[in-house]
Amino acid sequence: MSQKGQKIIVNPDKSLTVPDFPIIPFIEGDGTGPDIWHATRMVLDAAVKAAFGEEKAIVWKEVLAGEKAFKQTGSWLPEETLKQILDHVVAIKGPLTTPVGGGIRSVNVAIRQKLDLYACVRPVRHIPTVPSPVKEPQKVDMVVFRENTEDLYAGIEFESGSVSAQKLADFLKTLGATVPPGAGLGIKPISRANTARLVRRAVAYALDKGYGSVTLMHKGNIMKFTEGAFAKWGYETAAEFFPTSTLTEAKLWEEHGGVAPKGKVVIKDRIADMLFQQVLLRPEEFGVIAAPNLNGDYLSDALAAQVGGLGMAPGANIGDKCAVFEATHGTAPKYAGQDKVNPGSLILSGVMMLEHMGWDNAAKALSKALADTVASGFVTYDLARQLPGSTLVKCSQFGQAVAKRLAG
Ligand code: NAP
Repeated sequence: MSQKGQKIIVNPDKSLTVPDFPIIPFIEGDGTGPDIWHATRMVLDAAVKAAFGEEKAIVWKEVLAGEKAFKQTGSWLPEETLKQILDHVVAIKGPLTTPVGGGIRSVNVAIRQKLDLYACVRPVRHIPTVPSPVKEPQKVDMVVFRENTEDLYAGIEFESGSVSAQKLADFLKTLGATVPPGAGLGIKPISRANTARLVRRAVAYALDKGYGSVTLMHKGNIMKFTEGAFAKWGYETAAEFFPTSTLTEAKLWEEHGGVAPKGKVVIKDRIADMLFQQVLLRPEEFGVIAAPNLNGDYLSDALAAQVGGLGMAPGANIGDKCAVFEATHGTAPKYAGQDKVNPGSLILSGVMMLEHMGWDNAAKALSKALADTVASGFVTYDLARQLPGSTLVKCSQFGQAVAKRLAG
């Protein structure tokens, strides 16, 4: 078996050509990152072997970011790391510490922005037996596409009492807008181009994976030209790029009596506060949800709570040139080096990575082995404390148990 490895290539139509031995850069992460990365790497290798034998394998390549990078290179996010990710198209990372007191605001946000990873994709599904605060968590099957480059992430702020805030307040007055004296001011940009590329990806995903709807989440009843425009541009994008495979919710009722023709994706929109209610009360009515940055942030964590919390919530940051798959939780520093925390979030992010590469058999095998291991009551501390009678295992033991199932 060649261990040399080759690069994944992005084709002009944005599909991927994945060699049998793709080189995939990884960032192991800070705090508990090395523990969960070690378990994740083991089960990813086992899943690929279970699905493809010796015919395919991932050739891992470590790249540096976070504390390890700072100690070795003096930079929290070396340019070389960004170059390697861009060059190799697909990468996976553990959580990274946010440095306190200057330098870089957040390494995680910097990776997303510098690589233009504009879609933060978070699937939310319940794994049987994982404790949940809702009665019917099995009804939750949603995928949030959160815009990753503007809105809050490109927010511009001026401090209360500063010269800049006063200048802006004076300028706003010339436009006919007044703000309370001495107010801190914030500006959030939402653009047509960035909304369109996100919604286009969300609709394509819904069609590809068989979801019945894409919901545009916004607060357009109040902020018409940012939040409201997000919904308007979202509808326009669906109509422009998917004219025959989508229909609006209005048309669904006017022309089809509320029953979508087979294979068609319904495009609907919901005001953010109402959507929070509806995903709790009628989760089965929602599939893919596209949201601006801040709304998507709140919603994806709230949905993760419905299926048992961040310990089992995967995520991916996807752009046109590359994608980075990551655990959605942080570094949980108090447990660092204790081989204790749940690697489920990073493992499920690895499942998303395999799907993204088109290695669906490996993805299915891994997701089943993970679910079966949890269902057998073999769980880390976070689940064990909520599951009476379960067997408490370490992070590495959980990984070994999943790998053993994959080996058959
Ligand atoms: P956190 O690391 O997510 O940890 C908060 C709590 O969540 C932990 O104390 C633990 O709860 C639980 N938890 C987290 N990961 C878990 C896992 N794998 N298994 C089981 N339980 C888990 O949040 P934080 O303490 O606010 O942040 C710590 C650092 O991580 C900060 O520097 C932050 O900036 C960074 N961060 C990074 C990312 C990222 O890399 N994408 C995301 C968020 C935060 P219990 O105490 O109840 O056991």
